[in-house]
Amino acid sequence: MKPPDVVRLTPGKRVLFLTKDPALIKRQLAEELDLTMDDLTVADLLDDINTDAMTPAWVCFSHRPEDIARDAYAGLIVDGERLFPRDALKEGNFEVIVSGYRKGVGSSRETATQAEKWSGIDLAIAASFAPIHARNNVSQGVLMGDHGILRRLQAGEGVPLEEFTRGHDPITRLVIRHGGLFPFSKAVAAGEVELPRPDTGPRPMTMAEKLLARHLQGVPAGEERYVKPGDAVVVTVDGGYSHEFTTAQVHHFLEQEYGPDYTIQHPERFAVFEDHLIYADDVPKMRAFTDKIDTLRELQREFQRHVGARDFSARDRVSPGICHEVAREYLVEPGDFIQATDSHTCMGGVNNALAWGVGATEYADLIHTGATMVEVPESIRFELVGRLPEGVTAKDLMLYVLLEYARPQRTLNRVMEFTGPGITGLSMDERATLTNMATECSARTAIVVADEETFRWLAEWRPGADVEAMRRRAVAPDPGAEYAGGVHTIDLSTMRPMVAHPGDPDHGVPSDPTNGAWVDELGEVEIDIAYGGSCTAGKIDDLDFYHRVVKEAVEAGLTVHPRVRFLIQFGSRAVEEHCRRHGMVEAFERAGVTLIQPGCGACIGCGPGVSESPDQVTVSAINRNYKGRSGPGRLYLASPLTVAASAFTGRITAYKPGMFVGELVPA
Ligand code: SF4
Repeated sequence: MKPPDVVRLTPGKRVLFLTKDPALIKRQLAEELDLTMDDLTVADLLDDINTDAMTPAWVCFSHRPEDIARDAYAGLIVDGERLFPRDALKEGNFEVIVSGYRKGVGSSRETATQAEKWSGIDLAIAASFAPIHARNNVSQGVLMGDHGILRRLQAGEGVPLEEFTRGHDPITRLVIRHGGLFPFSKAVAAGEVELPRPDTGPRPMTMAEKLLARHLQGVPAGEERYVKPGDAVVVTVDGGYSHEFTTAQVHHFLEQEYGPDYTIQHPERFAVFEDHLIYADDVPKMRAFTDKIDTLRELQREFQRHVGARDFSARDRVSPGICHEVAREYLVEPGDFIQATDSHTCMGGVNNALAWGVGATEYADLIHTGATMVEVPESIRFELVGRLPEGVTAKDLMLYVLLEYARPQRTLNRVMEFTGPGITGLSMDERATLTNMATECSARTAIVVADEETFRWLAEWRPGADVEAMRRRAVAPDPGAEYAGGVHTIDLSTMRPMVAHPGDPDHGVPSDPTNGAWVDELGEVEIDIAYGGSCTAGKIDDLDFYHRVVKEAVEAGLTVHPRVRFLIQFGSRAVEEHCRRHGMVEAFERAGVTLIQPGCGACIGCGPGVSESPDQVTVSAINRNYKGRSGPGRLYLASPLTVAASAFTGRITAYKPGMFVGELVPA
């Protein structure tokens, strides 16, 4: 529904303040208390409300927003109890919800917005919003404002709609005015909206800018195309994918908006994957949701049959692999613009493509129309020189980038470009670790410049593909391109093994991938679980890393430390085949490693390898260590080499060649 030109509070409706004091929230939900901005300061309000708190993973097993809304804020737990009982937000008769800074951090899950909207919330007030959450609010037609606006509304004033569109690019302003993405797209299709055209003149461009300029819609063929950061553009999408956690919603929304016979553009360019929930049955906590997960799987199959998308479903309950890994192996090409319903879509940037994750509404809209709207992002460039020392991997480099550049927010919402002679010393799998973890840097995405290794790798993985055509579509930055985030030279030879520690969330130090620390300065950290796998660390080179350490340990007569469970999960079927073909499995089995079939798993708390109690310590090669994501224990992020070495020593240990020979034997 279109918002009014002048926004006012509805008589009889309420405003919910998410206060740091849970007792005040409880009283508001119980209808014992109504607050105004005059009663509170911004400092009294909750900051960093995580999308996991708004809609934990189990809530997302429902695909209908009205069902999701029943468990809005189910992840806000105080003294072991839900602060928001079932239906509490919906039955509170609220139309405005108020919080502090950085509302909606965490994942890209649009369900967080849906939980509020389908509970009756039309206006979210916060000091700031996480960028993807803000985009999801725009897509769903939820207005956003600050505390000053709320003060005026509560004083009875009407606030012009322009005040809610201020600061957004021209196309986003139009989306807000139309009440969300679907009504806006329908208005565009009906010719009711004239889209603004960027008039940026010739200028040197970054890789991301060049790629977006090439995909501009509405520019006559042969005409030079240029964009600059901040331009609002409509661009053609080359391809994308969704998985069983998100496809059901995409299907549901398209049916609702366009009827049961809806169509999508170029179905052969879009794919579905069964990877995220494939091993959820192995986690006792998840068994209660088996029926819902089965429904998600069935709806994905229904969608695939309906539109004819490429099918990467499981066969005999074995996934073909994690969507991002399989996509880079077979789908993503240099010069592509890719959109998919998952935050690690950025991994595709390794193939010299521009790829990022979007919410279900945005994805449904773009597969229906074949295009999407983008505000051209700023970029930050990393010029890599030198070579990584022995025992140091791209994961260590990325943990360093997270600490040095993401923590002070220099990568925030920017495209991270990786260039320089140091790139040539990194394999394609190692480069994929860099692009994968752009999302942990809160970046828009990452892209690696293409070199001969890029085209050799693509030719090897895609026999018969026209690699020369791919070469012509590849992008490189222009000399003189502008980087708002700066150009930073990193000498790879200075890198050392790192971890990201789990912090101390109960005392104000969040679990965060930016908590970088050098392994050799960490002290004694005993571990219970070592996990190698996920989209970040389940690639062929990662398996080679695990195997290198395991083989040395086995040859030294060792098995996995008696206190430790060491699990390795293949990123894709092709990775598993590589390991079997090269005889790696035998060493893993002799060492006592548990091997897991391809797919996601422990990484989202939905597979073997999750911790089971708060006192357990995990060292893991995955990409996120947010509290509770992979079980209740403490989780250290580390490189595949560090994970494997630690599995044998029983404490977090950097790998050194020959380390198991002689005196170093686990206690
Ligand atoms: S492995 Fe983990 S981070 Fe990667 S796509 Fe799966 S759930 Fe997401």
